[in-house]
Amino acid sequence: MPLAELDVGLTDTERAIRETAHRFAADVMRPAGVALDKLSPEGVIAKDSPLWEVIRQHRALGLSAAETGDGDLSPIEQARMRYIVSEELGWGDAGLAIVFGVAGFPRMMAELSDNAELKDIVKDHLTGCWAITEPDHGSDGVDILGHAKAPGKDYGKPNVIARRQGDDFVISGQKSSWVSCGTIAEAAALFCAVDTGNDKPGRAVFVLPLNLPGVSRGKPLDKIGQRPLNQGEIFFDDVRIPRSWMVVPPEGYDVAASMVLTTANTGMGTLFAALARAALELAIDYAKERKQGGVPIIEHQTVRWRLSEMFRKTEAARSLNRDVVRSNALNQPRLEYAIASKVTSTQTAFEVASEALQIFGGNGTSREYPIEKIFRDARSSMIEDGCNYVLGIMGGSRL
Ligand SMILES: Cc1cc2nc3c(=O)[nH]c(=O)nc-3n(C[C@H](O)[C@H](O)[C@H](O)COP(=O)(O)OP(=O)(O)OC[C@H]3O[C@@H](n4cnc5c(N)ncnc54)[C@H](O)[C@@H]3O)c2cc1C
Repeated sequence: MPLAELDVGLTDTERAIRETAHRFAADVMRPAGVALDKLSPEGVIAKDSPLWEVIRQHRALGLSAAETGDGDLSPIEQARMRYIVSEELGWGDAGLAIVFGVAGFPRMMAELSDNAELKDIVKDHLTGCWAITEPDHGSDGVDILGHAKAPGKDYGKPNVIARRQGDDFVISGQKSSWVSCGTIAEAAALFCAVDTGNDKPGRAVFVLPLNLPGVSRGKPLDKIGQRPLNQGEIFFDDVRIPRSWMVVPPEGYDVAASMVLTTANTGMGTLFAALARAALELAIDYAKERKQGGVPIIEHQTVRWRLSEMFRKTEAARSLNRDVVRSNALNQPRLEYAIASKVTSTQTAFEVASEALQIFGGNGTSREYPIEKIFRDARSSMIEDGCNYVLGIMGGSRL
């Protein structure tokens, strides 16, 4: 049973786009997500994998363009479009929705530069990535201002560094196996340490295609949840790029990285409130079908109460997220609100998916039923884009 729409002001265009996104999510993403979940990590990205057709169809429908707006929309209309589309994609399959999301990262970061050639290089790829996490720096990388650092300590040596050589930068090192789309991305938004030769080493953002000499990839990662989402290391062996591909210099890094994390955490807030909705809807349907004690289990009072709790949490996460998306568009975006939404939605997704699994009883644990996958997908989200505890320290430090 689909949940009602609390937003009473949807326009005809918004309604039509939501319908298109929902049909794609239901007819294409859901079945493909289930099929991909059962494949090996290598199978997910094999030539004959359903992944590629899903990516192509998403592109053909123009849903990314709808989310980012075509220039004719006001900031608030664009914000509404973003959650209208993303909620459906997150409902369809969280891992695939993230494949679509990270594809836009290199292009989004290239927009910060005035380098037309670079924008052109990354404008038309199907896959991309946000490469920030390093083998020795997971939470450290997310903790942009060092709010979670132990007193008197620093974060130690980076695993990737870009060194200035004349008019170029030369990049060496390794990003971690947790980079989403790391082994298939055509381009990267690379957040890493930089030595410009002038100041003390800092951090910067580069945008680069990943077919350059010296770039290689790791093995696709095998993991518990969001298995349709490819992940793996990217290695840089003296990769030479022009200086102008540094799109954010060290002096702009903290602000830019905080903005990117604000955008990413807000997006996670949308996707995982939607995943909670998916789990809730499946649980309601099952509770109406499954008979125990002589009646459909929804007729037992405690089952109804449990569904009501799941519903309350899901709608609260969805409302907070919509407010944050709209506020980001109109006000100075604030990371603490994005973190509040990300943590609320992912925690809600986990709790609702877990309770949904319980409502399915033994069937909830079977791979014949859809709920155990959703539960695994939700579990990963509490670590993805920053472990919720570390994000909490960062959010609290900003209050
Ligand atoms: C599904 C998924 C998708 C991801 N996608 C991407 C991506 O696209 N690009 C990318 O670059 N990365 C990505 N990541 C990586 C993700 O950002 C990191 O996993 C996350 O930041 C945590 O880092 P870590 O795994 O190294 O854990 P660690 O940092 O090693 O943390 C381990 C534990 O220690 C705790 N901890 C660590 N530091 C502190 C501290 N200072 N204070 C208190 N507690 C602390 C944490 O809370 C956690 O419980 C993804 C991860 C997942 C799971």
